[in-house]
Amino acid sequence: MNIQDLIRPTVKVLKPYSSARDEFQGNSGDMVFLDANENPFENGVNRYPDPKQQTVKSLLSEIKGIPKQNILLGNGSDEVLDLIYRAFCEPNHDNIITLPPTYGMYSVLANINAIEIKSVQLDENFQPKVDEILEIADSNSKLLFLCSPNNPTGNSFEASSIEKLIKEFKGIVVIDEAYIDFSNEESWASRLSEFPNLMVTQTLSKAYGMAGIRLGICFASEEIISVLNRIKPPYNVNELTQQKAISQLEQNELTTQQVEAILQEREALVKELKFVDYISKIYPSDANFILVKVDDATKRYNQLIKKGIVIRNRTTQPGCENCLRFTVGTPEENKILIDTLKSI
Ligand SMILES: *Cc1c(COP(=O)(O)O)cnc(C)c1O
Repeated sequence: MNIQDLIRPTVKVLKPYSSARDEFQGNSGDMVFLDANENPFENGVNRYPDPKQQTVKSLLSEIKGIPKQNILLGNGSDEVLDLIYRAFCEPNHDNIITLPPTYGMYSVLANINAIEIKSVQLDENFQPKVDEILEIADSNSKLLFLCSPNNPTGNSFEASSIEKLIKEFKGIVVIDEAYIDFSNEESWASRLSEFPNLMVTQTLSKAYGMAGIRLGICFASEEIISVLNRIKPPYNVNELTQQKAISQLEQNELTTQQVEAILQEREALVKELKFVDYISKIYPSDANFILVKVDDATKRYNQLIKKGIVIRNRTTQPGCENCLRFTVGTPEENKILIDTLKSI
Protein backbone atom coordinates (compact mmCIF):
# COMPACT_ATOMS: atom_id res chain seq x y z
CA MET A 1 0.00 0.00 0.00
CA ASN A 2 1.29 3.45 -0.92
CA ILE A 3 0.55 5.91 1.89
CA GLN A 4 1.42 8.87 -0.34
CA ASP A 5 -1.64 8.06 -2.49
CA LEU A 6 -3.90 8.51 0.56
CA ILE A 7 -2.63 11.96 1.54
CA ARG A 8 -4.69 14.97 0.48
CA PRO A 9 -3.13 16.69 -2.55
CA THR A 10 -3.00 20.08 -0.76
CA VAL A 11 -1.18 18.54 2.19
CA LYS A 12 1.28 16.69 -0.03
CA VAL A 13 2.60 19.95 -1.51
CA LEU A 14 2.26 22.03 1.67
CA LYS A 15 5.23 24.09 2.78
CA PRO A 16 4.88 24.19 6.59
CA TYR A 17 5.25 27.31 8.75
CA SER A 18 8.77 27.43 10.06
CA SER A 19 8.90 28.71 13.63
CA ALA A 20 11.84 30.40 15.32
CA ARG A 21 12.38 27.26 17.39
CA ASP A 22 12.39 25.13 14.22
CA GLU A 23 15.08 27.21 12.55
CA PHE A 24 17.51 27.29 15.45
CA GLN A 25 17.83 23.85 16.98
CA GLY A 26 20.95 24.12 19.12
CA ASN A 27 20.60 23.46 22.79
CA SER A 28 23.14 25.69 24.42
CA GLY A 29 22.24 27.26 27.74
CA ASP A 30 24.47 30.28 27.16
CA MET A 31 22.91 31.32 23.84
CA VAL A 32 21.17 34.69 23.73
CA PHE A 33 17.69 34.10 22.30
CA LEU A 34 16.50 37.16 20.39
CA ASP A 35 14.71 35.28 17.62
CA ALA A 36 11.08 34.83 18.70
CA ASN A 37 9.93 38.25 19.98
CA GLU A 38 9.34 36.86 23.45
CA ASN A 39 9.41 38.96 26.62
CA PRO A 40 12.97 38.32 27.91
CA PHE A 41 12.12 38.44 31.63
CA GLU A 42 12.04 34.93 33.09
CA ASN A 43 8.79 33.74 34.70
CA GLY A 44 8.79 30.05 33.76
CA VAL A 45 6.61 30.42 30.67
CA ASN A 46 7.96 33.49 28.85
CA ARG A 47 9.61 31.31 26.17
CA TYR A 48 7.77 29.34 23.48
CA PRO A 49 7.57 25.62 24.30
CA ASP A 50 9.54 22.91 22.49
CA PRO A 51 7.53 22.36 19.26
CA LYS A 52 8.71 18.73 19.09
CA GLN A 53 8.22 17.97 22.83
CA GLN A 54 11.50 16.00 22.92
CA THR A 55 11.60 15.31 26.68
CA VAL A 56 7.96 14.18 26.90
CA LYS A 57 8.47 11.94 23.88
CA SER A 58 11.64 10.39 25.35
CA LEU A 59 9.76 9.43 28.52
CA LEU A 60 6.80 8.06 26.58
CA SER A 61 9.12 6.19 24.25
CA GLU A 62 10.68 4.45 27.23
CA ILE A 63 7.37 3.69 28.97
CA LYS A 64 5.59 2.48 25.84
CA GLY A 65 8.54 0.85 24.10
CA ILE A 66 7.99 2.78 20.86
CA PRO A 67 10.77 4.79 19.14
CA LYS A 68 10.47 8.57 19.41
CA GLN A 69 10.28 9.04 15.65
CA ASN A 70 7.02 7.06 15.66
CA ILE A 71 5.33 9.45 18.12
CA LEU A 72 3.34 12.64 17.59
CA LEU A 73 1.75 14.56 20.47
CA GLY A 74 -1.34 16.75 20.37
CA ASN A 75 -3.58 18.95 22.49
CA GLY A 76 -5.59 15.88 23.59
CA SER A 77 -6.39 12.94 21.29
CA ASP A 78 -9.07 15.15 19.89
CA GLU A 79 -6.42 17.31 18.22
CA VAL A 80 -4.59 14.20 17.03
CA LEU A 81 -7.79 12.88 15.46
CA ASP A 82 -8.44 16.24 13.82
CA LEU A 83 -4.92 16.23 12.33
CA ILE A 84 -5.55 12.74 10.94
CA TYR A 85 -8.71 14.00 9.19
CA ARG A 86 -6.93 17.02 7.79
CA ALA A 87 -4.03 14.92 6.50
CA PHE A 88 -6.06 12.29 4.67
CA CYS A 89 -9.66 13.40 4.06
CA GLU A 90 -10.60 15.72 1.21
CA PRO A 91 -13.75 17.67 2.18
CA ASN A 92 -16.91 16.88 0.18
CA HIS A 93 -15.14 13.96 -1.47
CA ASP A 94 -13.80 11.34 0.94
CA ASN A 95 -15.55 9.25 3.57
CA ILE A 96 -14.69 7.52 6.83
CA ILE A 97 -16.10 4.42 8.53
CA THR A 98 -17.15 4.24 12.17
CA LEU A 99 -18.63 1.36 14.14
CA PRO A 100 -21.39 2.57 16.47
CA PRO A 101 -22.00 2.51 19.35
CA THR A 102 -18.67 4.27 19.78
CA TYR A 103 -16.86 7.49 20.70
CA GLY A 104 -18.73 10.50 19.33
CA MET A 105 -15.74 12.56 18.20
CA TYR A 106 -15.13 10.55 15.01
CA SER A 107 -18.49 11.71 13.62
CA VAL A 108 -18.23 15.25 14.96
CA LEU A 109 -14.84 15.69 13.30
CA ALA A 110 -16.18 14.19 10.06
CA ASN A 111 -19.02 16.71 10.10
CA ILE A 112 -16.69 19.64 10.82
CA ASN A 113 -14.42 18.60 7.98
CA ALA A 114 -17.32 17.89 5.53
CA ILE A 115 -16.48 14.20 5.29
CA GLU A 116 -19.19 11.60 4.66
CA ILE A 117 -19.72 9.06 7.48
CA LYS A 118 -20.36 5.42 6.68
CA SER A 119 -21.29 3.37 9.69
CA VAL A 120 -21.55 -0.34 10.36
CA GLN A 121 -23.10 -1.12 13.73
CA LEU A 122 -21.21 -3.52 15.99
CA ASP A 123 -22.80 -6.99 16.34
CA GLU A 124 -24.76 -8.16 19.41
CA ASN A 125 -21.49 -8.85 21.26
CA PHE A 126 -20.23 -5.37 20.30
CA GLN A 127 -17.68 -6.87 17.89
CA PRO A 128 -16.96 -5.46 14.40
CA LYS A 129 -18.77 -7.06 11.44
CA VAL A 130 -15.60 -7.46 9.42
CA ASP A 131 -17.10 -8.54 6.09
CA GLU A 132 -19.75 -5.82 6.11
CA ILE A 133 -17.13 -3.19 6.86
CA LEU A 134 -14.91 -4.31 4.00
CA GLU A 135 -17.93 -4.42 1.70
CA ILE A 136 -19.15 -0.90 2.52
CA ALA A 137 -15.65 0.59 1.99
CA ASP A 138 -15.03 2.23 -1.39
CA SER A 139 -12.07 3.92 -3.04
CA ASN A 140 -12.80 7.17 -1.17
CA SER A 141 -12.87 5.49 2.27
CA LYS A 142 -9.76 6.98 3.84
CA LEU A 143 -10.13 6.19 7.54
CA LEU A 144 -11.57 3.31 9.55
CA PHE A 145 -11.90 3.96 13.29
CA LEU A 146 -11.61 1.02 15.67
CA CYS A 147 -12.02 1.99 19.31
CA SER A 148 -10.62 -0.86 21.40
CA PRO A 149 -11.41 -1.08 24.29
CA ASN A 150 -14.54 0.56 22.94
CA ASN A 151 -16.33 3.49 24.55
CA PRO A 152 -19.15 3.17 25.70
CA THR A 153 -19.34 -0.64 25.59
CA GLY A 154 -16.06 -1.34 27.42
CA ASN A 155 -15.01 -4.44 25.47
CA SER A 156 -11.91 -4.99 23.32
CA PHE A 157 -12.29 -6.12 19.72
CA GLU A 158 -11.06 -9.58 18.70
CA ALA A 159 -7.42 -9.40 17.60
CA SER A 160 -8.14 -11.55 14.53
CA SER A 161 -10.87 -9.13 13.37
CA ILE A 162 -8.61 -6.12 13.87
CA GLU A 163 -5.78 -7.79 11.98
CA LYS A 164 -8.02 -8.71 9.06
CA LEU A 165 -9.34 -5.15 8.85
CA ILE A 166 -5.83 -3.66 8.88
CA LYS A 167 -4.72 -6.06 6.16
CA GLU A 168 -7.73 -5.70 3.88
CA PHE A 169 -8.98 -2.12 4.34
CA LYS A 170 -7.46 0.05 1.61
CA GLY A 171 -7.14 3.19 3.73
CA ILE A 172 -5.74 4.09 7.16
CA VAL A 173 -6.92 2.08 10.17
CA VAL A 174 -6.95 4.23 13.33
CA ILE A 175 -7.09 2.20 16.54
CA ASP A 176 -8.18 4.42 19.43
CA GLU A 177 -6.60 2.92 22.53
CA ALA A 178 -7.67 5.56 25.06
CA TYR A 179 -8.41 2.75 27.56
CA ILE A 180 -5.61 0.31 26.69
CA ASP A 181 -3.87 0.84 30.05
CA PHE A 182 -6.83 -0.85 31.79
CA SER A 183 -6.77 -3.84 29.47
CA ASN A 184 -4.75 -7.05 29.29
CA GLU A 185 -4.60 -6.80 25.51
CA GLU A 186 -1.33 -5.71 23.99
CA SER A 187 -1.21 -2.36 22.23
CA TRP A 188 -1.25 -2.48 18.44
CA ALA A 189 1.48 0.16 18.54
CA SER A 190 3.98 -2.70 18.92
CA ARG A 191 3.04 -3.86 15.39
CA LEU A 192 3.48 -0.62 13.45
CA SER A 193 6.37 -1.97 11.41
CA GLU A 194 4.16 -4.77 10.03
CA PHE A 195 1.35 -2.50 8.84
CA PRO A 196 2.10 0.78 7.00
CA ASN A 197 -1.57 1.86 7.16
CA LEU A 198 -1.89 1.45 10.95
CA MET A 199 -2.22 4.38 13.35
CA VAL A 200 -2.74 4.06 17.10
CA THR A 201 -3.93 6.84 19.39
CA GLN A 202 -3.60 6.94 23.17
CA THR A 203 -4.01 9.66 25.77
CA LEU A 204 -2.83 10.86 29.18
CA SER A 205 -6.47 11.71 30.02
CA LYS A 206 -7.61 8.38 31.45
CA ALA A 207 -5.21 5.97 33.22
CA TYR A 208 -2.46 8.60 33.55
CA GLY A 209 -4.72 10.97 35.46
CA MET A 210 -4.01 14.08 33.38
CA ALA A 211 -7.26 14.91 31.56
CA GLY A 212 -6.74 18.52 32.59
CA ILE A 213 -3.46 19.08 30.74
CA ARG A 214 -4.77 17.85 27.34
CA LEU A 215 -2.12 15.54 25.97
CA GLY A 216 -2.93 13.04 23.25
CA ILE A 217 -0.53 10.57 21.66
CA CYS A 218 -0.32 9.20 18.14
CA PHE A 219 1.85 6.24 17.15
CA ALA A 220 2.43 5.63 13.44
CA SER A 221 5.11 5.03 10.81
CA GLU A 222 7.73 7.74 10.42
CA GLU A 223 6.18 8.52 7.04
CA ILE A 224 2.77 9.27 8.55
CA ILE A 225 4.22 11.09 11.58
CA SER A 226 6.16 13.41 9.26
CA VAL A 227 2.94 14.31 7.41
CA LEU A 228 1.17 15.15 10.69
CA ASN A 229 4.19 17.17 11.84
CA ARG A 230 3.92 19.30 8.73
CA ILE A 231 0.28 20.27 9.37
CA LYS A 232 0.20 20.56 13.15
CA PRO A 233 0.22 24.02 14.75
CA PRO A 234 3.90 24.56 15.65
CA TYR A 235 3.43 25.01 19.42
CA ASN A 236 0.40 22.74 19.86
CA VAL A 237 1.46 21.34 23.25
CA ASN A 238 1.98 24.19 25.71
CA GLU A 239 4.83 24.55 28.22
CA LEU A 240 2.75 23.88 31.36
CA THR A 241 1.38 20.70 29.81
CA GLN A 242 4.84 19.49 28.86
CA GLN A 243 6.23 20.24 32.35
CA LYS A 244 3.36 18.46 34.13
CA ALA A 245 3.53 15.46 31.79
CA ILE A 246 7.28 15.17 32.41
CA SER A 247 6.98 15.29 36.21
CA GLN A 248 4.14 12.74 36.25
CA LEU A 249 5.75 10.36 33.75
CA GLU A 250 8.96 10.43 35.78
CA GLN A 251 7.02 8.85 38.66
CA ASN A 252 5.10 6.41 36.54
CA GLU A 253 4.85 3.74 39.31
CA LEU A 254 2.11 5.90 40.76
CA THR A 255 0.01 5.45 37.62
CA THR A 256 0.62 1.70 37.64
CA GLN A 257 -0.57 1.51 41.26
CA GLN A 258 -3.63 3.63 40.55
CA VAL A 259 -4.58 1.49 37.54
CA GLU A 260 -4.30 -1.62 39.75
CA ALA A 261 -6.56 0.01 42.34
CA ILE A 262 -9.12 1.04 39.69
CA LEU A 263 -9.19 -2.51 38.29
CA GLN A 264 -9.81 -3.95 41.75
CA GLU A 265 -12.59 -1.45 42.31
CA ARG A 266 -14.08 -2.33 38.93
CA GLU A 267 -14.31 -6.00 39.93
CA ALA A 268 -15.83 -5.07 43.31
CA LEU A 269 -18.35 -2.81 41.59
CA VAL A 270 -19.40 -5.57 39.17
CA LYS A 271 -20.05 -7.91 42.12
CA GLU A 272 -22.26 -5.34 43.84
CA LEU A 273 -24.13 -4.35 40.68
CA LYS A 274 -25.40 -7.92 40.45
CA PHE A 275 -27.53 -7.23 43.54
CA VAL A 276 -29.33 -4.26 41.97
CA ASP A 277 -32.63 -5.78 40.85
CA TYR A 278 -33.41 -3.45 37.91
CA ILE A 279 -29.98 -4.05 36.31
CA SER A 280 -30.58 -6.84 33.81
CA LYS A 281 -27.14 -6.97 32.22
CA ILE A 282 -23.58 -5.99 33.16
CA TYR A 283 -21.36 -5.86 30.09
CA PRO A 284 -17.78 -7.14 30.45
CA SER A 285 -15.29 -4.25 30.68
CA ASP A 286 -11.66 -3.87 29.70
CA ALA A 287 -11.78 -0.19 30.65
CA ASN A 288 -12.31 2.05 33.70
CA PHE A 289 -16.06 2.17 33.23
CA ILE A 290 -18.96 -0.28 33.22
CA LEU A 291 -21.95 -0.38 30.90
CA VAL A 292 -25.16 -1.84 32.32
CA LYS A 293 -28.66 -2.39 30.98
CA VAL A 294 -31.51 -1.31 33.25
CA ASP A 295 -35.32 -1.25 33.13
CA ASP A 296 -35.59 2.45 32.24
CA ALA A 297 -32.28 4.28 31.70
CA THR A 298 -33.69 7.81 31.59
CA LYS A 299 -35.71 7.29 34.78
CA ARG A 300 -32.70 5.84 36.63
CA TYR A 301 -30.41 8.56 35.30
CA ASN A 302 -32.73 11.28 36.60
CA GLN A 303 -33.09 9.55 39.97
CA LEU A 304 -29.29 9.46 40.34
CA ILE A 305 -28.97 13.14 39.38
CA LYS A 306 -31.48 14.01 42.13
CA LYS A 307 -29.23 12.13 44.56
CA GLY A 308 -26.19 14.07 43.36
CA ILE A 309 -24.56 11.39 41.17
CA VAL A 310 -23.75 12.09 37.54
CA ILE A 311 -23.34 9.13 35.22
CA ARG A 312 -23.78 8.79 31.46
CA ASN A 313 -27.10 7.81 29.90
CA ARG A 314 -26.27 5.98 26.65
CA THR A 315 -29.81 4.90 25.77
CA THR A 316 -29.90 6.77 22.45
CA GLN A 317 -26.77 5.01 21.13
CA PRO A 318 -27.47 2.20 18.65
CA GLY A 319 -27.49 -1.16 20.45
CA CYS A 320 -27.43 0.55 23.87
CA GLU A 321 -31.15 0.93 24.59
CA ASN A 322 -31.64 1.47 28.35
CA CYS A 323 -27.92 1.43 28.99
CA LEU A 324 -26.06 3.49 31.58
CA ARG A 325 -22.30 3.96 31.81
CA PHE A 326 -20.56 4.38 35.17
CA THR A 327 -16.94 5.48 35.54
CA VAL A 328 -15.08 3.56 38.25
CA GLY A 329 -14.36 6.08 41.01
CA THR A 330 -12.60 5.96 44.38
CA PRO A 331 -13.76 3.28 46.85
CA GLU A 332 -15.80 5.97 48.66
CA GLU A 333 -17.43 7.18 45.46
CA ASN A 334 -18.25 3.65 44.37
CA LYS A 335 -19.85 2.90 47.73
CA ILE A 336 -22.07 5.97 47.36
CA LEU A 337 -23.00 4.82 43.85
CA ILE A 338 -23.88 1.29 44.97
CA ASP A 339 -25.82 2.42 48.05
CA THR A 340 -27.76 4.89 45.96
CA LEU A 341 -28.49 2.41 43.18
CA LYS A 342 -29.87 -0.01 45.76
CA SER A 343 -32.00 2.69 47.39
CA ILE A 344 -33.82 4.01 44.33
C1 LIG B 1 -11.66 9.85 26.59
C2 LIG B 1 -11.41 9.36 25.22
C3 LIG B 1 -10.39 9.91 24.44
C4 LIG B 1 -9.50 10.95 25.02
O1 LIG B 1 -9.54 12.15 24.43
P1 LIG B 1 -8.55 13.28 24.93
O2 LIG B 1 -8.83 14.35 23.93
O3 LIG B 1 -7.14 12.74 24.81
O4 LIG B 1 -8.89 13.62 26.33
C5 LIG B 1 -10.17 9.40 23.17
N1 LIG B 1 -10.91 8.39 22.70
C6 LIG B 1 -11.87 7.82 23.43
C7 LIG B 1 -12.61 6.67 22.90
C8 LIG B 1 -12.17 8.31 24.70
O5 LIG B 1 -13.14 7.74 25.42
